[in-house]
This record gives sequence, structure tokens and C-alpha cells, in this order.
Amino acid sequence: MQSTPGQCATHKDAFLTVGESLGPPPTFDLQAAVFLDVDGTLLEIAPRPELVRVPLGLPGLITRLAEERQGALALISGRPLVQLDELFQPWHGAAAGLHGIERRRADGSLNCILDSASEAALGLIRPKLAALAADGSGLVLEDKGGTLALHYRAVPDRETEIHAYAETLRAAAATALRLIGGKMVIEFQPRNVNKGLAIAAFMAEPPFLGRRPVFVGDDTTDEDGFAEIRRRGGMAIRVGKPRKTEANYGLPSVAAVLDWLERTGLP
Ligand SMILES: [Mg+2]
Repeated sequence: MQSTPGQCATHKDAFLTVGESLGPPPTFDLQAAVFLDVDGTLLEIAPRPELVRVPLGLPGLITRLAEERQGALALISGRPLVQLDELFQPWHGAAAGLHGIERRRADGSLNCILDSASEAALGLIRPKLAALAADGSGLVLEDKGGTLALHYRAVPDRETEIHAYAETLRAAAATALRLIGGKMVIEFQPRNVNKGLAIAAFMAEPPFLGRRPVFVGDDTTDEDGFAEIRRRGGMAIRVGKPRKTEANYGLPSVAAVLDWLERTGLP
């Protein structure tokens, strides 16, 4: 894989400024560049990541929306690319995996960003999280290689304890890693990678270049993407109950997202 570590050198944490209830987005046109988060946006969240179900017809819908825009549609996910390909087969278009560590362009070429400091820090944290997850209480460590996610959906009452412990691990990792709290999950990611930077990298290249971007997401890690979209004058759409967000539109559920996507481009 080609490596371009300088690409992500301008990371900035999300800054949440908008808290009002957001209206539904209009449908987008053929000139839009479309970016879609996966879990909690296109797929209902499952108790474990491997248990998600892909609605019949969703890979076909993604394929249609991409083809209508000369390939200007990318999945932007915390999952690795190999899982995205498995879930959405036979679709094989543009995608960012692991929050942008892995990025497949619309022409199929790959870009991989993982700096040695992040890799070393993840190596120190990995056995500690593995030991915690081995206590039999229902914690699940998802080792994605370039990131580490600890799911506590089975033991939500341990949230405070887990967040405190994770913060001590992050502090020990100095500046290499950021710690993101999502829906019943904490995740350690390289600090120089986020969904906003992944979207910016796509937008610098054809077939995304010059289009008006649209991004749909549901969770904390999507806020970097919303901020990037807002800077570019696009539509940032948050899925779920109202809360502080950088998004400028809202949809209430995964079902509403799928319905909105299906209506796009139809007469
Ligand atoms: Mg999500």
C-alpha cells in the first residue's frame, strides 16, 4: 500500500457548537459527492459488530447512487475495508476504513496511513485491554490492527470505570493516540486520522473534486466529518435523537436514512 503520512498532519478535534433539533435534509442531486457512515447510519447497531444485518437491496442502492455520480460515493467507517467489502458485496467502490487509516479511491487504488508512533502506542495498550476483556464480564475487545475498540454494551454499568481506565491508558500514550467515546464503546485511534480528513482527501480527487458534499453519520467520530462538510458548504446529516452536533440536518433513524436515500434520484 502507498503511504502518505503527511496527509493527516492538520488534525483538529471536533468542536461542537450546534444543539437545536435539526430539520430533515432535501434529497441531493447528481452533482453531489456522497459520504456515508455505516453502523448506526446504514445498518442498525447490533450487540456485537459481527452481528449486524445488511438489508436486502442496500448494496444495490449504494451501487446505483455511486454509478449515477461517476463513482462519487464513499463509505466512511470505523470498520476495516475488508469488513465493509464483506457486508456490502458485490459493491466494491470508494471507502475509508478504520476512520481513514485505510482509504480506497474510486479508481480502486489504496492509501494507508499508520505512523510508527501510533503503532507503538497501540502495541503497549493492546495487552492491557485484552486482559480487561478477558475477565468474563462481557467486555469485547475489537482489535482492528490500526485502532482498538472496547465494547461494553453487555455491561453498561461499568461505563464510568472503563472510561477512567481508558483515559489513563491514553495519557500514557502521550500525543500519539486520541480516545473516542461512542455508543457503548471506547476506541483508541491514531491522532493524525479522522473522518473529516478522510472526506477532505476524497474531495481533493476525481470524481469527488468540485462536487457539493453530503455526509450522513450518527456518532461522535462522525463530528469531524460534519465539520469538514460544513466548511465546504455541504449537507451534514446526523442520525438519531437531537444532541449537540456540527451537523446541519437530522434524520431520526436508520430506516429514515434508507428511505431518504431510496427517494433520491427517483422520479
Ligand atoms: Mg456510526
